[in-house]
Amino acid sequence: MTRFAFDNSYARELPGFYTAWQPATVPAPRLLFLNEALAAELGLDASALRGETGASLFAGNALPEGAEPIAQAYAGHQFGGFSPQLGDGRALLLGELIDRDGRRRDIAFKGSGRTPFSRGGDGKAAVGPMLREVLIGEAMHALGIPSTRALAVAATGETVRRELPLPGAVLTRVAESHLRVGTFQYFLAKGEVDRLRQLADYTIARHDPALAGAPDRYLALLQAVAQRQAVLIAQWMNVGFIHGVMNTDNMTISGETIDYGPCAFMEAYDPQTVFSSIDHGGRYAYGNQPHIARWNLARLAETLLPLMAEADDESAIQRAVAQATAVIDAFPGLFAAALLRGQRGKLGLFAASAADDAQDTTLVDDWLALLLAQSVDFTLGWRRLADAAEGRDAPLRDLFADRAALDTWLTRWRERCTRDDAAGGPGAAERAARMRRASPWLIPRNHRVEAALAAATDGDLAPFERLLEALRQPFDERPEHALYAEPAPAEAQAGYQTFCGT
Ligand code: AMP
Ligand code: MG
Repeated sequence: MTRFAFDNSYARELPGFYTAWQPATVPAPRLLFLNEALAAELGLDASALRGETGASLFAGNALPEGAEPIAQAYAGHQFGGFSPQLGDGRALLLGELIDRDGRRRDIAFKGSGRTPFSRGGDGKAAVGPMLREVLIGEAMHALGIPSTRALAVAATGETVRRELPLPGAVLTRVAESHLRVGTFQYFLAKGEVDRLRQLADYTIARHDPALAGAPDRYLALLQAVAQRQAVLIAQWMNVGFIHGVMNTDNMTISGETIDYGPCAFMEAYDPQTVFSSIDHGGRYAYGNQPHIARWNLARLAETLLPLMAEADDESAIQRAVAQATAVIDAFPGLFAAALLRGQRGKLGLFAASAADDAQDTTLVDDWLALLLAQSVDFTLGWRRLADAAEGRDAPLRDLFADRAALDTWLTRWRERCTRDDAAGGPGAAERAARMRRASPWLIPRNHRVEAALAAATDGDLAPFERLLEALRQPFDERPEHALYAEPAPAEAQAGYQTFCGT
């Protein structure tokens, strides 16, 4: 049996923040997926985790030595409404490992049975949604976007009751931590300021150790989280990712994407795109994501105020509120800067300076307006702009019905690229190459993901494995994967819905 070198700081340092709990035993464990590269990163012997050992371990029947499974407490705003107690209703943190690079990583189950936080739920998960976490999480990782990752998925041999009976599974998830905005909200809601401080200091030691002990560390923590989220959401936006359920319990402190439930990638560009069947108001629509991130950060700020000022010191409270408000108000600027940085890479502008910001923002906004007006596929539009950088306009022009409008924009863009080169930019060939590293050829397209998961649910893993293999190199045009690069037929795009019933 391979050794997991657990070092469980959360369980050790934060008693009262969780309930110790055991995973349910399941009838017929079978390993569906093992992430061998990630296992190696974690210092685990992948060969020892294949087969029966891994199946029984990753299904929760035989825990690795040193695991101390706990269900973590947290609260959260769900679609704007506050639930003071959510918590791990079907997840368990097994413990933490220090990885090959010295980073502390959480190892957690999802779908391992009921816990004291399960409320009405069964604590279980189905094969399809857990393999979905694998596909989307690995795609995000390959796209260079911070993400929790799947180490393994094991089928349980149980039937899980959803709208339909489905085969059950357990996901093993790896994260920088499972600390969320909602973790802080839990202790604020209970009025437990000492625990809030303990949590904040733990968080700082784990994610922002440079801030430890500083007198203004709680404000600095807020700033650090805002910066990470600004960068993360900008990355989402630049690949067309829609999280779908940006509740405060699904926003990490680490800046990793977490909880791939009703998420999906946009195909034709439209900021109002929503896929989730329960998001009637479009709260978590593509274009709303930066606003929601800011809203969630304001909820985090509220939890830190009692740590920034004593409750009976009116002037200190006012100062703390002003400081925290300034951080929240600065978020749109942080986000805009991160977004433009990414967009410049996609536009092929590599020698730009702050003096170019206004003009470049207009240039990119006009490009996006063209994509919107002509329902152009977001991924292909950006990708084929790289061809145009080398003077091959035809593949790009094929995506547009009104080519004259495109040509007008291309003329402006080329003038801007010429100016970029005059300022030290890389020239046409290198520009195109770099643009192809900023705009992927492949994203997990919804119809492909659905088809792969449907086959896996019926027992055929081959489509899932093929798709995963393709998504691991999203920037390389590999002809054998050309089908995955094609947009869904328009009818399929129009009716596409994702479901929370995971
Ligand atoms: P999510 O929307 O997946 O982030 O989950 C929100 C909350 O619902 C968390 O507290 C989960 O633990 C809980 N939850 C979701 N599905 C289940 C389930 N099948 N059984 C118990 N709790 C669940
Ligand atoms: Mg969640």
